[in-house]
Amino acid sequence: MLSTPVITRFAPSPTGQLHVGSARTALFSWLYARHHGGQFLLRIEDTDEQRSETQFSESIFKDLDWLGLNADQAPVYQSQRQDIYQQHFGKLKKKAATYHKDGAWYVNVAKGLNALKQLKVLDAQGYVVVNDLIHGAVKFPPDELEDFVIIRADGTPVHHLALVIDDAETGVTHVIRGDDHLSNVPRQNILHALLGLPIPQYAHLPLILGPDRTRLSKRHGATGLDEFRAQGILPEALINYLARLGWGFGDQEIFSLTELIEKFSIEKVNKTAAVFDYKKLQWINKQYMKRMETMSMAQHLQKLSGEDFSTHQTAIELLMAKCSQPEDLLSALKYFTSDAYPTETEARDQYLSDPEVAHHIETLKEMLQKIDAFTLENLEGTVRGLAREMDLKAADLIHPLRVILTGRAVSPGIFELMHVLGKETVLRRLERWLTQVQTLG
Ligand code: GLU
Repeated sequence: MLSTPVITRFAPSPTGQLHVGSARTALFSWLYARHHGGQFLLRIEDTDEQRSETQFSESIFKDLDWLGLNADQAPVYQSQRQDIYQQHFGKLKKKAATYHKDGAWYVNVAKGLNALKQLKVLDAQGYVVVNDLIHGAVKFPPDELEDFVIIRADGTPVHHLALVIDDAETGVTHVIRGDDHLSNVPRQNILHALLGLPIPQYAHLPLILGPDRTRLSKRHGATGLDEFRAQGILPEALINYLARLGWGFGDQEIFSLTELIEKFSIEKVNKTAAVFDYKKLQWINKQYMKRMETMSMAQHLQKLSGEDFSTHQTAIELLMAKCSQPEDLLSALKYFTSDAYPTETEARDQYLSDPEVAHHIETLKEMLQKIDAFTLENLEGTVRGLAREMDLKAADLIHPLRVILTGRAVSPGIFELMHVLGKETVLRRLERWLTQVQTLG
């Protein structure tokens, strides 16, 4: 545990849907706070009135809620804090390091750096040194900095000024955010020095790239949390995947939330960009799906599709062993819930085109009619027995049977399937197919 209580924050700009990269930033900030028994805050950076929209802050809250990344205090909105920025600016404009030009207020960087020197943030060469928890000491040459605006001609504060004030006022000790903000630190530190505010610890997270090593974008696949949700990715699986994206604990892949909180350390986050691997996410999702009780899976599917599957627990259980994604499960459930399921053309051509098949199925149907209980033993005995009698391989009956009963070449085991469908449904479907063949033939 650190001596002062840790306070982290997530500070999204509400200008779009929550991007999966930002979700990871939120997760790492949240985990860091939870690991240290600290607090996690939320700040909506909505000062850009043109681009900020309430609908986006709402959807960001919804996504964080879905992931379970709860904040410890009510969110702070920058748009409601203009008075506070003006108060701080009142002090700032008296400093020799600021000046007024063309209606705007600027910081004189040379003087600002002087203030930083006293805080021991400059090295012997005068470089600004940022001791980042992930990147180590990162140095910025002073001559790359130019005087910069802090208050625009219309009187509004720039983003750097607002966030430096907000972090300090809300007691933020650790700023965990994307790499793209690293180069802003020298200017932000100058503002800390001039305002007499403490400099927080920094941890800048490397970017997330697509498989082609360019910044992850829509071109690569889903990026918004709403898209992952629509694909049926479980929040626990996404959390697990995002935690492992750029962070690791040996070669362990699956972590419960409690384990993540216990094991997470920001120092172990990789310095280099992480590549988003959709297949890996699917694999992790599959692990979580396997673990889910069928009941909660039924609820999950109901949320996705609006259909009630509570009477199809056994079918779900059977399919969960076969289907890696909820979407596949939903589509396979069709042949359990109704007779109106599609038939794959390839499967039909491969297994139902032989004229002999109708004869086999007709005979099988008659035998199945005679079975009282559709138990696994009875079903297996009947099908295998008939195959022997007719001098066929069991597969010669099972493949056509499967295509007729499910429309597919792949399904759960045929006897379990028939058992779950039940006698009435199985016979009805066989009968329907036989009628179709006769009509066509
Ligand atoms: N609002 C900024 C962003 O969305 C975050 C700034 C920060 O974390 O310091 O990129």
